[in-house]
Amino acid sequence: MTLGRIALARIPATRGTIHRLFSTTLSSSSTNRTSPPLSRHMSMKSDNLVSKLTSSGLLKTQGLIDGKWVDAHDGDTIKVLNPATGEVVANVPCMGQSETNDAISSAYDAFRSWSKLTASERSQRLRKWYDLLISHKEELGQLITLEQGKPLKEAMGEVIYGASFIEFYAEEAKRVYGDIIPSTLGDRRLFVLKQPVGVVGAITPWNFPLAMITRKVGPALACGCTVIVKPSELTPLTALAAAELALQAGIPPGVLNVVMGKASDIGDALLASPEVRKITFTGSTAVGKKLMAGAAGTVKRLSLELGGNAPCIVFDDADLDVAVKGSLAAKFRNSGQTCVCANRIIVQEGIYDKFADAFSKAVQSMQVGDGFSEGVMQGPLINEAAVQKVESFVEDAIFKGAKVLLGGKRHSLGMTFYEPTVISDVTEAMLLSREEVFGPVAPLLRFKTEEEAILMANNTKAGLAAYIFTNNVQRSWRVTEALEYGLVGVNEGLISTEVAPFGGLKQSGLGREGSKYGMDEYLEMKYVCLGDMNRK
Ligand code: NAP
Repeated sequence: MTLGRIALARIPATRGTIHRLFSTTLSSSSTNRTSPPLSRHMSMKSDNLVSKLTSSGLLKTQGLIDGKWVDAHDGDTIKVLNPATGEVVANVPCMGQSETNDAISSAYDAFRSWSKLTASERSQRLRKWYDLLISHKEELGQLITLEQGKPLKEAMGEVIYGASFIEFYAEEAKRVYGDIIPSTLGDRRLFVLKQPVGVVGAITPWNFPLAMITRKVGPALACGCTVIVKPSELTPLTALAAAELALQAGIPPGVLNVVMGKASDIGDALLASPEVRKITFTGSTAVGKKLMAGAAGTVKRLSLELGGNAPCIVFDDADLDVAVKGSLAAKFRNSGQTCVCANRIIVQEGIYDKFADAFSKAVQSMQVGDGFSEGVMQGPLINEAAVQKVESFVEDAIFKGAKVLLGGKRHSLGMTFYEPTVISDVTEAMLLSREEVFGPVAPLLRFKTEEEAILMANNTKAGLAAYIFTNNVQRSWRVTEALEYGLVGVNEGLISTEVAPFGGLKQSGLGREGSKYGMDEYLEMKYVCLGDMNRK
């Protein structure tokens, strides 16, 4: 890595401009392909942090193909911004089809040897990778906060969660069992072999820059597949650092490749290649649908983890404290930017006012600020487009009769900070109930009966996560079974874990990640009929 790629200079900037912190090697073709937040001068703290990360060797600013750190063929780059400050943290290559084709060739070649290793050999390398991820928890957490904005404590939590998939699948690698089927004929023996799918293209979003990658790469590598990861252009640095640690763990060149840049060109190259046997994608439903259509050309396997519109149903018989705490956690993690965030808090009329009051008080106590500041619970939104989306949803709700109980506007900190917001009297006609707001806005809807709550909860194309709060055991089972969702939290707002299957119904996706079931996504079944067993 050349020092010129990393932010070293401090140049004061005026609001509304992006200041350039890169001097010597900043390419004139360097592009910022996303809506930039407003900029601020770089603090000494950021400078020191970037220098520390640079000397740790984990601030990589090139793509990884065949074990080599490489630039885009045409030298084009993209800026990676700190959403809390607008500072340019680094420049990374803006890659496209030709670099992706190189990565596919390298993954295809590496598949031959990686898939032939014993399960135990693959397991040991994954375990070593896990150990390295954990021993570099702090640097990885800092990278996540730098490029994604979530508070450092939450970012470190993501590192532990993300690494847990590598540990879990290091163990699962040794448990890929086939089957023996009782034969219908005495002279034959019937078997099922499980074999790796082959080369996998893994496309991931910005909201969990590490965990969305490890949840795919862990099982893929454990099964013997090789992978090309395409992280979001907004958060490539964590992906690159994790890949560096994979190399250090002895994962051979070509087994894990990372390309980033022109998303649709990279996606098209992965889709077009007959050598790529599977696409695994986490992101928006709109892009998921495009990939699904594109995968038809080469009949690829597909896993899709798409958007949600999670209902969080609070019944009259719920424990108020448990419901407030659980809804708060389900709504405001990552400033409301997760696919499982409670998007509609549907509250029964008997507890509605008490809940609205207690919930608003809890929301009011959340400190907003730069994720590196002590005590901060809400960081910035990822970019200006995200804030504008939130603003438009709130305006739509107010226009249609909703009431702002708390927040409802940009935070006085400026940039992409938005006030934690609670809105009451939300109805199903409002954008806030129909689509993911993906921001720190909690809409409260009112219902009368259990049947009505179930209808409201299921009245969406999405089907990822749902939450219910009730102290009635029969109701908890009845409602859980009626909910058209892949994940249900009962009296609990944080439910993701590496040991349980994660995935959606309806338009929230296909397939499952995490748990023993996550392995199946990367395995083919081969039926073998062994004839002539008794022939002399
Ligand atoms: P997104 O816009 O769909 O992007 C996701 C990834 O797809 C990024 O790497 C993006 O690249 C890439 N991409 C965009 N267009 C593409 C194309 N035509 N071909 C190939 N790749 C393409 O989603 P996002 O805004 O990053 O993430 C937020 C969404 O993800 C939300 O809807 C959220 O609910 C969902 N999500 C779902 C889960 C789950 O497990 N179900 C988990 C987390 C997030 P660039 O960023 O470089 O453009």
